[in-house]
Amino acid sequence: HFNISSQLKSLLTSYQWLVQEKEIMLSYTLPDLEIDADPSLLNTVWDNLLSNALKYNQPGGSIDIQLTYTEEHCSISFEDTGIGISKEEAERIFDRFYRADASRTRSVKGTGLGLSIVATIVELHGGTVSVQANEAAGTTFTVKLPLKEN
Ligand code: ATP
Ligand code: MG
Repeated sequence: HFNISSQLKSLLTSYQWLVQEKEIMLSYTLPDLEIDADPSLLNTVWDNLLSNALKYNQPGGSIDIQLTYTEEHCSISFEDTGIGISKEEAERIFDRFYRADASRTRSVKGTGLGLSIVATIVELHGGTVSVQANEAAGTTFTVKLPLKEN
């Protein structure tokens, strides 16, 4: 097992240059938590969600990362103030190679694979990943993972 908050904090450090370049305000609440999971696979999950939150954000936007947990599960959310996502698109973004409306994303490079990998890894760990459109602007992705081994 490993410390999931330390893992997230070191990932944030590695993205510091991009955060500064895009003038993104980054905030987080990451209490210490040890989990039983594959560290490198989970790092891939956070890496994809964070890189999306940055890629599809706007200059001066913000990203907030929250880790909460109970005895049964932990929940990690990535909230951004980016270009947002429609209901129709939200149903498809976890599909392999799917990218939302080209007019909105054509200036952003990507293969459309990131979120399908995220979904596969999270499911492999018995968890769930969901997407929610924010009221004002932007998107929130939430990953829930079970904490007890069966
Ligand atoms: P890559 O394979 O490099 O990750 P990608 O970012 O296009 O390419 P996904 O990460 O799978 O692929 O995301 C799929 C699509 O979902 C994106 O092309 C984008 O349209 C939309 N999307 C993903 N994250 C966000 C976000 N935080 N805000 C708005 N749209 C998003
Ligand atoms: Mg991506």
